[in-house]
Formats: sequence, C-alpha cells, structure tokens
Amino acid sequence: MSSTRTYLDHNATAPLRPEARAAMLDALDAVGNPSSVHAEGRKARAIVEEARERVADLLGVAPSQVVFTSGATEANCSVLRAGWGSILVSGIEHESVLAPARANGCDVIEIATDASGAVRVDAIAAALEKASARNSEPALLALQVANNETGVVQPVAAAAALAREWGDLVLHTDAVQAAGRIPLMFDELGVDTLSLSAHKLGGPKGVGALVLKDGLDIAPLVIGGGQERRRRAGTENVIGIAGFGAAASAAKQDLADMSRIAELRGRLEREALELAPGARVIGADAPRLPNTTCLALPGMAAETLVIRFDLAGIAISAGAACSSGKVGASTVLAAMGLPDELARSAIRVSLGWTTTEQDIAAFLAAWSAIAGSQQQHRAVA
Ligand code: PMP
Repeated sequence: MSSTRTYLDHNATAPLRPEARAAMLDALDAVGNPSSVHAEGRKARAIVEEARERVADLLGVAPSQVVFTSGATEANCSVLRAGWGSILVSGIEHESVLAPARANGCDVIEIATDASGAVRVDAIAAALEKASARNSEPALLALQVANNETGVVQPVAAAAALAREWGDLVLHTDAVQAAGRIPLMFDELGVDTLSLSAHKLGGPKGVGALVLKDGLDIAPLVIGGGQERRRRAGTENVIGIAGFGAAASAAKQDLADMSRIAELRGRLEREALELAPGARVIGADAPRLPNTTCLALPGMAAETLVIRFDLAGIAISAGAACSSGKVGASTVLAAMGLPDELARSAIRVSLGWTTTEQDIAAFLAAWSAIAGSQQQHRAVA
C-alpha cells in the first residue's frame, strides 16, 4: 500500500498478510495436481491439507469438516441452494444468502431486525411460529454472525438453541466478517454449516470454505469430480488455499490485537461526532465487531462522501462494496428501518491488521474538512 494512501475498507477486502503472500509464493512452484498419487501430487496435497488444518484450527473443528470453495458466495449458495422446503432468513444477510434463498422457489420467511441492526431472538421465534402456522416445514435458518455494513453481531448461539428446540431445522451462518475479528468456535455457535472467505482475513480473493457439522452432508453445488470428499468438484485452488491457511493462522494469532483496533475505532467515532454533531453511528447500541463503524452524515450522499475521501487519499465505502455501483440506499440499512435520508448518507469505515493511529488521524483530518464544509453549506442553505 502506498504510504500516501489510507486504506480503511477491510470489510470489502483486507490487505494480503505477509504470511499469506509467502505461503502463496511457495505454493506457486508446486507442480502437481493434489489428486495425483506421484510425489508432485502428494506435495500439492500436503499444501492443501496443511491449510485445511489451519482453517479448521481457527474455528476449533476437525479438518475433515472444512470444504474449500471459490469464496463465501459459493459456500453460501451451496447451502442455500441445497433443496430446502422452506427458508427463514434475516433481512440483513449478504446478497449471496438472500438471492439463492429467493431463487429456490420455496417458502421464504424474512426476519426483521430492530433499529440497532440486531435480529432479536423473539423475532426468530415469531418467524418459526409463522412457518408452523403456514404448515411449511421449516428446514433452513440463515443468520450471519456479524453484519458487513454495521458490524452488528447477531445472536447465533441463541438462535441455535431455538433451532434445537424446533427439531428438524438446519442452521447456517455466514461468518465472513466475524472470522479473525472475534473469537469464533463452531461448536459454541451451535450451527450446522458456516461460510468463510479468505480475503476478509488477509488471505487472497477467490477462495473460501464451507464448514460442515461432523456427519452432515449437503448435496454439492459444484459436481463433476471427487475432490473435497465429493463435496465440491474441481481441482483445488492450491495457491489460494495455501494463502488462506496462512492467513487463518495469522488472523487467529492477531485476535489479541483487536483491543487495539477497538480503541482506534472508538477514537475515530468519538472525534468524528465531535467534529460533526449531526452525524450518527449506526448500530452503536448493539454489540458490534471491533473494527467496523457505519457513520451517517445526513445531508450528504454516501457516494459523494466516498469520492471526496478517495480524493483525500482515503479508501472507505458506501454501504456494501459488492453492491456499490447501484445508487440507492443499502438493503441492510433499509431492512433496519432507518429513515431514507440517514441511510443514503451512511459510509462504512472498516479497520484491520494494517490500521495505525496515523490512519485514524488522516481519516479525521479529511472528515473535518468534508463534514465542516457540509455544516457550513447547511447553515447557508
Ligand atoms: N458474506 C458477507 C457477509 C460478505 O461481506 C461477503 C463479501 N462481500 C461475502 C459473503 C462474499 O464473500 P466472497 O467475496 O468470498 O464471495
């Protein structure tokens, strides 16, 4: 990263960790196909299996529970497209959960969030009742660990306890934004399936994992080969997987650094609100990831803010980067029931392993200039 730029968009993608880079450079020279029995093949297989152990270790699962995929989008689609009778899903899920849920043609019940951006356990219970009144066997419940835009942490373990009472309900969680930012143990979450993305924790883009409860089988989305124990066909992305494994280990070690990140985020929010008293931190009342802040500056369009910060050398995003390009309020903020003006002015600033005091100072200097000019503009208007 050039020293003149300040990168505060870790939720879109985190800078590659040096450990991941080194592992990928080593893997570049492994010529074999991991399915081949000769020495070259066994070398490539060893790289994949070492990475599998490292990813498994991040979540406290057995390596056999980890299925490598092309990313979290594929992992989410694999679960959501597996042929359910009905799906209960929170309205603030990532598009890679919502779109396949809706494309299934089955009964889909959306669960609302409260104004802070948290899904309430009683709303999940009400959705289960609704499903039962409709006589549609609830089959899958999808609830993310933490939201990509607000960082709000969702009550997954409590939802799992409810799901167990219900009986025949599979619980899927998208742990993409939470992994490497808060401690995550698969068994403590109590879920059946979980998705991960390498590039959010300092690995390469285009690789992820679907983690399955021991003994659970999901019909594979990608078929046509026996790889990944017949759970995901296609020659493994050995280089990407090597980087993912190294990033997972580094992110686990770095969890201790999250208190530093939380302090930086705290300073950013405190000073940003002092500089612009009309601004608001979305989701501040709920438990949140330590690295994410969603800041609304009413009267200013988020897209304009992103451009002005970019010109000032700072990378942030307006709502989800995956959906930017579409002008309009984010679906997450709309699902929270935020007033349109507030939602349209919300930017996401996300910190991570590279973030320093200087980055926060640079953000605040730009914020002061941008929000200050906006306050003046408002006074005149
Ligand atoms: N889920 C969430 C919550 C995300 O933020 C993202 C990335 N924007 C994804 C899933 C998709 O992950 P990937 O980029 O690995 O397909």
